Amino acid sequence: MPRLVVISNRVAVPKARGVAGAQGGLAGALNAALKANGGIWFGWSGQECDEFSGSINYVKSSDGVTTATIDLEHQDIEEYYNGYANSTLWPLLHYRIDLTQYEREFGKGYERVNERFADSVLPLIDKGDVVWVHDYHLMPLGERLRSMGVDNRMGFFLHTPWPPTNLFVSLPYHERLVKALLHYDLLGFQCDTWLDSFLHYCWKELGAEVDYETGEITLDGRTTLARAYPIGIDYEFFIAKGNTGEARQAGQRLLSSTRHRTAMIGVDRLDYSKGLPERLDGISRFFDRHPDRVRDLVFIQIAPPSREDIGSYQKIRETLEQKAGQINGARSDVDVVPVRYVNKGYPQEELFGFYRAAKIALVTPLRDGMNLVAKEYIAAQDPDDPGVLILSRFAGAAQQLDCDGQGALLINPHSSDDIAHNIRLALDMPLEERKARYEKLIVSVREENVQRWTENFISDLAEDAA
Ligand code: UDP
Repeated sequence: MPRLVVISNRVAVPKARGVAGAQGGLAGALNAALKANGGIWFGWSGQECDEFSGSINYVKSSDGVTTATIDLEHQDIEEYYNGYANSTLWPLLHYRIDLTQYEREFGKGYERVNERFADSVLPLIDKGDVVWVHDYHLMPLGERLRSMGVDNRMGFFLHTPWPPTNLFVSLPYHERLVKALLHYDLLGFQCDTWLDSFLHYCWKELGAEVDYETGEITLDGRTTLARAYPIGIDYEFFIAKGNTGEARQAGQRLLSSTRHRTAMIGVDRLDYSKGLPERLDGISRFFDRHPDRVRDLVFIQIAPPSREDIGSYQKIRETLEQKAGQINGARSDVDVVPVRYVNKGYPQEELFGFYRAAKIALVTPLRDGMNLVAKEYIAAQDPDDPGVLILSRFAGAAQQLDCDGQGALLINPHSSDDIAHNIRLALDMPLEERKARYEKLIVSVREENVQRWTENFISDLAEDAA
């Protein structure tokens, strides 16, 4: 295998995972690939500097992986990270043109930082290295590197959805961005839906020659391959977390606090793409329909804050606090509080314990590239008494976890009725059916893991080189 150069907005330094390192399994898998193939992981340090110098901070971990990072200026962070990446592209890619901000300065900052990434990483790329760029922050990077003479194999993986063409064209200079992507040799998407939208865009807007069977896109004499590579969890690593004292204690803590009630859990970054207000509306509808069951069910929502510098994120936090307060205000008793809304993050050991103690998981994003929480929930279940996964049909994960209608319960996250109905189905589901569904789901979660994802992507990228 050739040496690997991984480039992403942030790097996850090995042994510094946990709550902050929400990349979890992805970081582990990329580190394992870097360890196996040799190479380097390049990105932003997360630090702000007074004036960009391009000087690189190297850290070599105890397991032999080198990370190389640069610091960015305040203006870079505002325009590139908070601006174009998270206020323009993130909402647009999640179909939220109502939240998408189009500011010229953001676009300029995005181009400037991509240029800074290219200038800084260029000397670290050797002939024969395979370059793997991650996510929406760095779409133009491959083209920049090509213009500097890099003719290595270069791949790009998009961790988010790709929206339908008629939404994507709302972005000024959309053609420029997609043409830049076509300078990579391989483009990876989380599932067929996002891949198909991308192929359609290339055909319709760029007039590219597109082979929907093979994923080959040809424009101006250059061919790029686009395929779906659904990301998975690091199954073994996650199971090992479940065997810790922290996991057991966390599970016990949750069970003893819910006593005779069924615990239903949600775990999501506090992001408008996750459908949290709609989820609470669905729960409220369930209690409206079944007031007698307010003593049967406790909903625990874990929602660590995210991107707090951005207005739309501050707003979602207020909305949720209000909605959780309303449900509890209307239904609490001295010994009953139906919704527990926890505005902080937990390490994955504790999450494992919570997942296992909860008999239902509500994973209801309005749109999600994949959604790893859904897979972690399944991995954490007791095979003899598994819980039920209620999953949005608009998460990339739904394509794998539907299992022909025999796996997760798929719902429309915009419909309170659908959510309420499926909560009742899950609460009353007999053990035999829960087990049958779990047995289908666990095969997908165990087999289609993050190691398989890295191997498939890297081998396709390297193979193309042959
Ligand atoms: N996570 C965590 N602690 C928390 C909440 C989430 O470590 O308190 C992790 C979770 O285990 C999962 C990841 O954050 O691995 C979330 O990934 P997902 O694909 O579900 O959503 P994203 O946040 O990437 O949009």
